[in-house]
Amino acid sequence: MGPETENGDHIDEFESGFLGDLIRPEDSGYDNARTVWNGMIDKRPDLVAQCQDVADVISAVEFAREQDLLVAVRGGGHNAAGLGTCDDGIVIDCSPMNWVDVDPDTRRVRVGGGATWRDVDHATQAFGLAVPGGVVSHTGVAGLTLGGGYGHLRRAYGLTCDNLVSVDLVTADGRFLTASEDEHPDLFWAVRGGGGAFGIVTAFEFEAHPIGTKVATVETWHSIEDATVVFETWRDFVETAPRTISGEAIIWGIPEDPHFPEEHHDDPVAIITAVHAGDPDEGEELLRPLREFGSPLFDFSGRIRYLDLQQGFDPFFPAGEHRYYQGSVYLDSLDDEVIADILDRAETRPDPRILYYVWNLGGAIADVPEHATAFSGRDHPYLLAIDGKWDDPAEDDAVLEWARSFQRDMQVHSPGEGYRNFPGLGEGGDAQRTPERDETDDRLVEVKDQYDPTNVFSRNHGVTPSESARTDGGAGDE
Ligand SMILES: Cc1cc2nc3c(=O)[nH]c(=O)nc-3n(C[C@H](O)[C@H](O)[C@H](O)COP(=O)(O)OP(=O)(O)OC[C@H]3O[C@@H](n4cnc5c(N)ncnc54)[C@H](O)[C@@H]3O)c2cc1C
Repeated sequence: MGPETENGDHIDEFESGFLGDLIRPEDSGYDNARTVWNGMIDKRPDLVAQCQDVADVISAVEFAREQDLLVAVRGGGHNAAGLGTCDDGIVIDCSPMNWVDVDPDTRRVRVGGGATWRDVDHATQAFGLAVPGGVVSHTGVAGLTLGGGYGHLRRAYGLTCDNLVSVDLVTADGRFLTASEDEHPDLFWAVRGGGGAFGIVTAFEFEAHPIGTKVATVETWHSIEDATVVFETWRDFVETAPRTISGEAIIWGIPEDPHFPEEHHDDPVAIITAVHAGDPDEGEELLRPLREFGSPLFDFSGRIRYLDLQQGFDPFFPAGEHRYYQGSVYLDSLDDEVIADILDRAETRPDPRILYYVWNLGGAIADVPEHATAFSGRDHPYLLAIDGKWDDPAEDDAVLEWARSFQRDMQVHSPGEGYRNFPGLGEGGDAQRTPERDETDDRLVEVKDQYDPTNVFSRNHGVTPSESARTDGGAGDE
């Protein structure tokens, strides 16, 4: 039973002061409002509160707390496990808050809690600036930043959360706080990698970097028969490349896209990419050996607009239309044996649209000491990520078993955890955390106890308050 039938007076009061839209199951926009990126997630919240501003967020949090509703917070709606929605309760949807303000002199960028990377790139590129974001532009800034954030600029400028200067946030008890190195530093530590467990971020303040509007890139597509030499060559290149260069080695099927001849659609391929964050002339020189390697089937390398780089993969991952799985495993190394084990799966993918890829890490990511933020795993040199995409529910078991067994088998080459923003479906079998608790886990619980002792923001990366905080109901932070 929804809040409107049980609590008519309360919802009327809530609605009368709410600037955005409140959408209920009987409303025509309901299906659109409840849809998230992963078409496998089919949740039916009682209410979607589409917030226009901070006041809306505060009243939505207060309403949810008073009515004891399950709360999901939504930014870009891309979390593959569906953390941005829920059954029954309330979705506090920040997506209307997608404003971006750039100060080109200080290179500070303030971003609303519901913006996407497309919004940020659009606003910053007018000044030749960039905030290191993700590699698909319709992804939300909020979830990506709160969980860490890897993108094309990662080795030059670190994780997205490393570029955070402050956040404005509404806590579980409806307070509005700013967290930075100087204000609520414990909270600021937690939101850089600890996920959305501590409050609703209404504004992110980032430092942007002067990368210009064009960057030098390599993107060559090779026959699957050459995959071993392709991966080994990419590995040898990135292991000695300067930190301005970040890249991926990818196994995929040629997509059904007009850029590719129809007779090759779905053929398995090995792709290598690299991006130079800096002067494009210098970048082209540095990238030349990688670009000139082998006999690619397709070569999309060159100097391209940063905006095009950021949006290049967008069409292949549309929201709401397909079933998706995103899992990952950090790798200790990418020696020849690891590459062989990775490539073993190239031909067994249950659907040609499934891709998997290795990101090189290090550089600025590893400059930050491990416990300086809540992000775990800064010293891992590589991340293997698996992106499943399919349509037929009858294929679910085959794809999930394939992806999970791949991650399980790669554990022998892994420190035992994965990137929490590639969460699988959030169920057992999706390797995301090491079983042992560490200093970061303990500190996250302390911050959770302080700011959300009753677990109002429970749809998060697995941070729950301690039993004693729940019992006390929390003393709060003054
Ligand atoms: C197509 C695609 C491409 C991706 N590419 C990358 C990539 O290049 N690099 C990378 O690091 N990751 C990438 N990801 C993973 C991405 O970081 C996560 O999916 C992330 O959760 C997306 O954030 P969101 O705001 O869109 O998600 P949502 O589903 O809206 O939210 C995710 C989590 O954040 C919380 N949250 C959302 N908004 C707020 C807010 N305003 N305040 C507090 N908590 C909030 C939610 O409650 C939830 O727990 C990609 C994902 C997809 C689907």
